[in-house]
Amino acid sequence: MKNMPFILGVSGGKGGTGKSFVATNLAALLSQKFKVVLADIDVEAPNDFLLLGLEDPGKSEDIRSFFPIIDYKKCTACGACAKVCDTGAIVMAKGRPPMIMPRLCSGCKACIYACPYDAMLPGERVIGKLFVRDVSTKIGSFKLVTGMLKEGEEHTPPAVVYTKRRALEEAKDKDVLIVDTGAGSGNSIAAALQGSKILIAVTEPTPLGAHDLRAILEIARGNDIRTWMIINRSNIGPEDELLKIADEYNVEKVFRIPYSKEVVLSYAKGKLVVIENPDSEPARVLRRVAEEVSALIRRSLVEVKSP
Ligand code: SF4
Ligand code: SF4
Repeated sequence: MKNMPFILGVSGGKGGTGKSFVATNLAALLSQKFKVVLADIDVEAPNDFLLLGLEDPGKSEDIRSFFPIIDYKKCTACGACAKVCDTGAIVMAKGRPPMIMPRLCSGCKACIYACPYDAMLPGERVIGKLFVRDVSTKIGSFKLVTGMLKEGEEHTPPAVVYTKRRALEEAKDKDVLIVDTGAGSGNSIAAALQGSKILIAVTEPTPLGAHDLRAILEIARGNDIRTWMIINRSNIGPEDELLKIADEYNVEKVFRIPYSKEVVLSYAKGKLVVIENPDSEPARVLRRVAEEVSALIRRSLVEVKSP
């Protein structure tokens, strides 16, 4: 029986904190010692492939979600389905059978259970694309799984759950699955982080950074996930508030990546700073993080092998 990979979550609350920057660099560093899958589950704006300098995210397949189909022969236009649909996807005109707005449907299935006449049937629709490809860097190779929601879709959770499931399939014979989540702190982030052994919360020393750090740490606490914190662009503001929050949530380790032109330049070129500027301070910090994560992974692999 194959064991579960070590799942490393990387999240940041708000967008633009540098979580994809951290996740992609860690993927390359960890791939020097372990078999790695990097899952870009920021389904609304996946950009890991761009940070890795790739022109495309790879071979694609459809992401499908549950979607109800109305059997008009059975429908009595009673309206029970519209009453339980909390996204407003079911529209009723008086005396007429319902209409379902696909992009508003979250695929929750409540309407199926609510229909007293068995007039709602299970179906599905395409809500996005899933991409898989191999990534080769100068220091190591790994697999990249990317989820991408179709433009105009309102609900991210089904695409997040699908992408996470596919990433776990790809990682079943690997050591590590790195999950790079989307921005925010809602249900879809909790779903993406489920099963993580550790969460690296990437934040920045700004009031919004502090607000979102608390939200993401709350998710980790609710799911019993250990936490580390990276203060990105650590030299742009005071960190007192971040440290206070970290203390409150028992964050185990704090790393600081200063703002630096090396990061900006590698970013612009689609290169990883740990490869492009290995002697820079950001690259040094990222290597330290990778070493400490490696120790956890090794321990976890040993524990799994022990009877
Ligand atoms: S599956 Fe859920 S969201 Fe979609 S139409 Fe039915 S009740 Fe509404
Ligand atoms: S609950 Fe069933 S019967 Fe009633 S309107 Fe909806 S689909 Fe038609």
